[in-house]
Amino acid sequence: MLRQALLAVSRSDLAERVVTTSPLTRDVVRRYVADDVDAVIARLTRDGLLVTVDHLGEDVTDRAQAERSVQDHLALLGRLPRDADVSIKLTALGLRLSEQLALDNAATICEAAAAKGVTITLDAEEHDTILALHSVHATLRKEHPDVGVVVQAYLPDARERCERLEGARVRLCKGAYTAPGAYTAPADIDRSFVRCLKVLMNGTGYPMVATHDPRLVEIASALAVLTGRDATGFEYQMLYGVRPAEQARLAGLGAQVRVYVPYGTDWYAYLMRRLAERPRNLAFFARSLVSR
Ligand code: FAD
Repeated sequence: MLRQALLAVSRSDLAERVVTTSPLTRDVVRRYVADDVDAVIARLTRDGLLVTVDHLGEDVTDRAQAERSVQDHLALLGRLPRDADVSIKLTALGLRLSEQLALDNAATICEAAAAKGVTITLDAEEHDTILALHSVHATLRKEHPDVGVVVQAYLPDARERCERLEGARVRLCKGAYTAPGAYTAPADIDRSFVRCLKVLMNGTGYPMVATHDPRLVEIASALAVLTGRDATGFEYQMLYGVRPAEQARLAGLGAQVRVYVPYGTDWYAYLMRRLAERPRNLAFFARSLVSR
C-alpha cells in the first residue's frame, strides 16, 4: 500500500513542488544522486567498479525539452571513461510525443556513444511504454548490436521477453513502477527473476543482473558457474548509494560490478521510486526534514 502511494506521489506535480521546495536536506538526495558526477565516476572507477550514468529526466512533454535532453546526453559522453555505459529513458527523448522522435533521438546518442566506445542501455519505465521500448530497441540493435535493454521481472511475460532478446545485452531487474497484471508478491517477483536469469545465463547474450537482493545475487553467481560463464560473461549492477559494501565485496572477488549513477537536478521521481522500494527509507527521509 505504502509503495503504491509513494509511486502515485512520484507522478504528482503538486507533491513534486512541495518536496523539491521543502527544506529537504541535501544528504537525502545525495545518498542516491551524485552531486559531482565526474568525481563520483572517478572514485568508483578507481575502486574497480564500472558505471552506467543516468542524466536524470523523464516524461518530457515538448520537442525542445527532448532536444535539450539529447544535447545533455551528448555532452555527458565526452566525459566518460571508455568502458562506461549510459542509461537512457526514452520518455526523456520524446517517447510521449512520438515513438519515431524517441527512436531518432536515441539513434543520435547511440552513434555518438559508439564513436567513444561507450555502450547505451535503454531503461524500462511505466508499463504503457514497454511495447515501444522493445520496438525502439529492436530497431536500434540492427545498427548497434550492443545497445542494451531492461526487462522487469514483475511483468508476467518477462521470461518470454528474455527469450525474444536472445543474444542481446539485457539488464534484468525486479521493476520499480506498477503495472496492471504485474506480480506484486515478493516471492512471485523473485521466482520470475530466477526464470529470466536461467534464460539469460543459458543464452548467448550478455546478462546484467541488476539487484541488491543477496539471494538473487547468489543464485546468479551459481547459474553463471553452471552455465560456464566466466567473470567477463555477465555483470552485476547496483544503484549508487545502495549496498556499497556489497558492490566492493563482489568486485573484490573478481566480478564485474556496474554502479548506476544518476545525476542532475531532475531527481524527484527517481528519489520517490527509491523511497518506495524501501519504505524504511521514509523514516530517514522524515528525520532529515525534521532535523533541519
Ligand atoms: P529488493 O528486494 O527491493 O531489495 C533487496 C535489498 O536491497 C533490500 O533489502 C535493501 O537492503 C536493499 N535495497 C533495495 N532497494 C533499496 C533502496 N532504494 N534503498 C536502500 N536499500 C535498498 N527498475 C525499472 O523498473 N526499470 C529500470 O530500468 C531499472 N533499472 C535499474 C538499474 C539498476 C542498476 C538497478 C540496481 C535497479 C534498477 N531498477 C529498475 C530498479 C529495480 O527494478 C528495483 O526496484 C530495485 O533494484 C530494488 O529491487 P532489488 O532487486 O534490489 O530487491
